[in-house]
Amino acid sequence: MRELSGKIAGIAPSATMAISNEAKKMQSAGIDVISLSIGEPDFDTPDHIKVVCINALRRGETHYAPSNGLPELNQAIAAKIEKENHVPCRKEDVIVTCGAKDAIYEAMEAVLDRGDEAIILDPSWVSYEPCVQIAGGRPVHHPLNMRTFQVDDSLADRITSHTRMIVINSPSNPSGSVLDKGSLRLISDTCEDYDLIALSDEIYEKLLYGKEHVSLASVGDMAQRTITVNGFSKAYAMTGWRLGYAVAPPQILSRMSIVQQHTISHPTSFAMWGGLAAIEGDQSCVEMMRLEFARRRDYLMKELSQMGFESAPADGAFYAYIRVEGDDMELAGDWLKNLHVAVTPGTAFNTPGWERLSYATSMAQLGEAVRRIRASVT
Ligand code: PMP
Ligand code: GLU
Repeated sequence: MRELSGKIAGIAPSATMAISNEAKKMQSAGIDVISLSIGEPDFDTPDHIKVVCINALRRGETHYAPSNGLPELNQAIAAKIEKENHVPCRKEDVIVTCGAKDAIYEAMEAVLDRGDEAIILDPSWVSYEPCVQIAGGRPVHHPLNMRTFQVDDSLADRITSHTRMIVINSPSNPSGSVLDKGSLRLISDTCEDYDLIALSDEIYEKLLYGKEHVSLASVGDMAQRTITVNGFSKAYAMTGWRLGYAVAPPQILSRMSIVQQHTISHPTSFAMWGGLAAIEGDQSCVEMMRLEFARRRDYLMKELSQMGFESAPADGAFYAYIRVEGDDMELAGDWLKNLHVAVTPGTAFNTPGWERLSYATSMAQLGEAVRRIRASVT
């Protein structure tokens, strides 16, 4: 066979998925592996959301829908964005996608031309760089301050004549940190000074512990140059539904729409009815899950600190990000093989020397993981 795509050959498989697959393989071989690897709520999707989806399926919502999404859902998302995120939004400014991941990919395709640079703030979630590369762009990594997890003036040093986009993610996967108003202002000034587009991934906005979420698009005139990405996976425990969305200025949204029409068409029709129930229904399920994540976070952070680990702030999402000695890849391999605890090494997030522990797992499992890690470090 002749050479296949070099573009894809240069991209590593998703580290989060690879480790979680390995943990699952060991579990099915009967090994008692505790997985703190993948970032996926362990709760079931709330029942009222399922019921609306099942009813939609029963009444025959099984055909193509408008390609930018079910109009009722786009309208509900626009209303949510205006009310909660303080960003002007019409239903025409919304595209519903197959998960936030798909929205990120479509945004990269819509904005980047071959050779255009996208700045990614590290530590960064595993799929930003590959999405830039698949779109033909060039990822340019820029480190956050690894104590405060904020941006500083050095961001401007990364700008070249090819820079087109900055990607931000707050609350952050993997660090759980939240960009403060100073960082958001600096990012917004940089975007305006250099005519850049921002992609703001806000998928963890509902999972905050003592902080308030501020959308980048609500800062200054950023709504005109920001693609806000969000979804249902984390807030409503709907990872398998593959439902997300983006809000973007019209010129960008129409290009994302073209990518969507020629690739996925639109997300599954009846799943979108479930998404509508999630957004319009009782939000106490979100708060119930947030409180449980907060309880686990408090427990895990205290235990890790008692073991002597330095960690990122853990103000949001459901990850503890801890500094470790030695090679993080080797340590993660060692913990999986010998402790049967799966974690994701910082190298996967472009910051070697750290490990990410997802606390989206039961208290009992967390307690056992802590016991095993403590026994190995003391
Ligand atoms: N962004 C971040 C930061 C994430 O952690 C995830 C989780 N996989 C996604 C996007 C993608 O989420 P979705 O399941 O909606 O595609
Ligand atoms: N966002 C989750 C994680 O980082 C899910 C896996 C993925 O999509 O990468 O573990």
